[in-house]
Amino acid sequence: MEWIDTHCHLDEESFTQDCSETIQRAVDAGVKTMLAIGITLDSCRRVVELAQQYPSVYAVIGLHPNYVSAALPGDWEKIVELMRAPKVVGLGETGLDKYWDYAPIDLQTDYFHRHLELSRELDLPFVVHCREAEAETLAVLKQHAASGPLRGVMHAFCGTAETAAECLQMGMHLSFGGMLTFKKNEAQRQLSRTLPLDRLLVETDAPYLAPTPYRGKRNEPAHVRLTAACLAESRGISREEVATATTHNARQLFRLPDFM
Ligand SMILES: [Zn+2]
Repeated sequence: MEWIDTHCHLDEESFTQDCSETIQRAVDAGVKTMLAIGITLDSCRRVVELAQQYPSVYAVIGLHPNYVSAALPGDWEKIVELMRAPKVVGLGETGLDKYWDYAPIDLQTDYFHRHLELSRELDLPFVVHCREAEAETLAVLKQHAASGPLRGVMHAFCGTAETAAECLQMGMHLSFGGMLTFKKNEAQRQLSRTLPLDRLLVETDAPYLAPTPYRGKRNEPAHVRLTAACLAESRGISREEVATATTHNARQLFRLPDFM
């Protein structure tokens, strides 16, 4: 079985001591591809470097909504330039976050629009972070969907059935992370079994949101299998089926090469 972790923060400090061991553990566990995602200009530079250093790592770069206030003039232009670096396969993470009060919503929205416009221009998929801002996020997405289907993914999806339906209708993918395995999230598991398998991805968001039984510990890409196993169990299908489908979906969405 082969898995793809479509969202991990391999450049974060908690991995600096053992980044190559972490990546090797993932590869040994069948997680042959990892998408390292940037949140600031510095972080984007680091994930691009990681992608150059490790054959199994690809980069997704952008300005996270919580860091748009901290961005310096010119940072966005530098990220746009960096999009041309080898193995950059998508934009993000972008989106809206009303949970943390790190940046005014208008500024977050402005950057969200920039990512979506650039996604169309470069024909690269985008990765959406949405926290306590479902209505606002959908409103922005809908504006862009007016000019054609969207090529993107709702990362660590934990929204309602209605939001899922709207995102799917706009052409988007939905990605499940460790939260799917948390005991209290039965409603998410119920929802996950109703969604089309050909639009689902799996991810860790490592080092955050470790799945059960690692909850509260540092998460790592190898653990994506636990979330995928939970998805398989919820849907009453085999882990092989989930592995084949989600790996294929991720390869198509991010146009990743096929190693097999
Ligand atoms: Zn993330």
